[in-house]
Amino acid sequence: KETEPRVRLPVVPKGITEPKFTAAICELQSHLGGENVVLNDQPLSDGWYMEHPNTHDAFNLLDSEETVASALAYPGDTAEVQAIVLWANKHGIPIYPISMGRNLGYGGAAPRVRGSVVIDLGRRMNKVLDINANDCTCLVEPGVSFYALHEDIKSRGYDNLQIDVPDLGGGSVLGNALERGVGYTPYGDHWAMHAGLEVVLPTGEIVRTGMGAMPGANTWQTFPYGFGPLHDGLFSQSNFGIVTKMGMTLMPNPGGSESFMYTFPKEEDLAQLVEIIRPLRISNILENVAQLKHCIQEVASLGHPRSTIYQGDGAVPIEVIRRQLSMLPCGDCTWIYYGTAYGPKHIREYKLDIINREFGKVPGARHIDPATIPVDHYFWARHRVASGIPDLHELAWLNWMPNGAHVFFSPVSSITGRDAEKLLQIAKQRHQEAGIDMFPAFCVGLREMHLILNIVYDRGSATSRDAATKCMRNMIDDAAKNGYGEYRTHLLFQDQVMKTYSWNDNALEKLNSRLKDALDPAGILAPGRCGVWPARYRGRGWEL
Ligand code: ADP
Repeated sequence: KETEPRVRLPVVPKGITEPKFTAAICELQSHLGGENVVLNDQPLSDGWYMEHPNTHDAFNLLDSEETVASALAYPGDTAEVQAIVLWANKHGIPIYPISMGRNLGYGGAAPRVRGSVVIDLGRRMNKVLDINANDCTCLVEPGVSFYALHEDIKSRGYDNLQIDVPDLGGGSVLGNALERGVGYTPYGDHWAMHAGLEVVLPTGEIVRTGMGAMPGANTWQTFPYGFGPLHDGLFSQSNFGIVTKMGMTLMPNPGGSESFMYTFPKEEDLAQLVEIIRPLRISNILENVAQLKHCIQEVASLGHPRSTIYQGDGAVPIEVIRRQLSMLPCGDCTWIYYGTAYGPKHIREYKLDIINREFGKVPGARHIDPATIPVDHYFWARHRVASGIPDLHELAWLNWMPNGAHVFFSPVSSITGRDAEKLLQIAKQRHQEAGIDMFPAFCVGLREMHLILNIVYDRGSATSRDAATKCMRNMIDDAAKNGYGEYRTHLLFQDQVMKTYSWNDNALEKLNSRLKDALDPAGILAPGRCGVWPARYRGRGWEL
C-alpha cells in the first residue's frame, strides 16, 4: 500500500482538549523518560510482519486513521505499568495495552477507541524470567515472542523441552494466550496451558493469581488454581487488567514427530471425514489440532499472486485451481489433511496405522509420501510448526492479493459432518455474494471444531475492504442464527459478536458491564475491547 508522507493532524482522545492532552503527556514523560512516551505524529507506515507498526492496524479494514493511537508508552517494569494506569485514571485518558501487537487478522496493535495511548509492553518488558526444566514450565514477560522463547530454551541446552507455536512465530507468547490463540502440538490450547498471572488492575493495584498470591510459594507455575475464586479468565479477551507476567507449561520432548498428509477427492467427502476425525481426535490418536484444508490453500500457500493464474473478477473458478493442483504434490483433490504423530517410531507407527485405516474408508483417499514432497513445500513448514519450531511460511498467503491483508472468521461448532456442511454452506453463499475467494480450514481442537476462514483482501482498495467487511458481518449473523459463535474476532466485529452471545436477555454482556464498572470505574482500560464498554462510553454511539 502506498503510504504517502503527509502531515498528520494530531490525534487526541475524544473528550479531552489538545492542551490538556499535551500537558498530560509531558507529565507521563517525566515519570517514564521522554524516549519512552512518544506522540504518534509521524506518517503511518504499515511495515511488514517482522517490522509491524504499533500505531495502527496494518491490515486496516477502515481508513487507517480510524483506529489509531495518539501516543505510545513503553513501560520498563510492572511499577511503570502501574504509574501509567494511575496517570490514565487521573486524566481520564483511554489506554490500550498490547504485548507485541502482532495480532494479525484481529486488529494488530490498533486500539478500539481512536486516540487511545497504546501501552507497548513488549518493547522493554521482554525477558524470559524463568525456565524450569524439571517442572517443564516457564515465566515470561509480554515481549517474549515464540521465536525468543524457542531460542532461549535452545541456548540453555534444554533438549528435553519444547514450546507450542501458532501459525506465525513472531507474536507474544503471553499476548497470544490472553487472546486464546492456538498452536499445533498437543499443547496447542495456549490459554489452557498458562499457569499464573501477574496483573495490574485498572485502578493500579498489582495482583498475582493462583499460587502467586502466596508469598514464598514455589508452585506458581505448577498449580494454576491456588485457593478461592479463580480469576484468571477475567484477564483473557477482556479489558479488566494489564498482564505483566505469565507462567506457561512447556511440552517435554516427545522423542520424535512425524507429519503426514492425506488428500480426499470430493467436496462431498467433508461430512464423512469429520465423522472419522471426531473419535480419532477425542481419543488422541490424532494428537494435534486436526486440520482439514480446502485445496485452494495449497495454491495460495505457494505465495504467488492470484493474478498469475486468473485475471478475471470474482472468485477464481475451481477448474483454474484444479489445473494448478495437478502440478503440485497433492495432485487433483478437494480436501487436504495435515497432521503429526508424536513419540518414538514404534509409538508413531501404531497411531499412524490406525489413522491410515480410518482415512482409507473415504473412497479415493491418498496418503502423500513425505519423501516425494520438496523441501520448500508448505508441508514442511507445517511440520516445523507442529514440532514446536516457529515459522513464517504462512505469510505467503498475503501475496494472493495486491496490498494483501487478511481477516479471520472463526466460528465454533460440534465436530459433526452436518455442522461442517452447514458452516461451509453459509461461508460459500456469503463469499459468492461478495465475489471473493474462500479459504476454508476445519480445525478440530479436542471436542469442538473451528471453521477458520481467512479472507485475503486488498487493503489499498476501499471496494475490497468493504467486500471483506460485508462478508464478515453477514457470516457472523448467519452463523449465530444457527448457534455458531466466534471464538475470537477482529476489533471491529467485537460488538457484533458479543451481541450474539445473548442468552437470557444478554445476561453475559450485563455481567461484563458490571464487572467493568466495578474494576475500572474511570473507564480508561481498553474501552470496547471484546464488546465490553465502561459506563462512560456505553450507549453513547461507540458500539459498531
Ligand atoms: P501478539 O503480541 O501475540 O501479537 P498482541 O500484543 O497483539 O498479541 O495482543 C493481542 C491483544 O491482547 C491486544 O490487542 C490486547 O487487547 C490484548 N493484550 C495483549 N497483551 C496484553 C496484556 N499484557 N495485558 C492485557 N491485554 C493484553
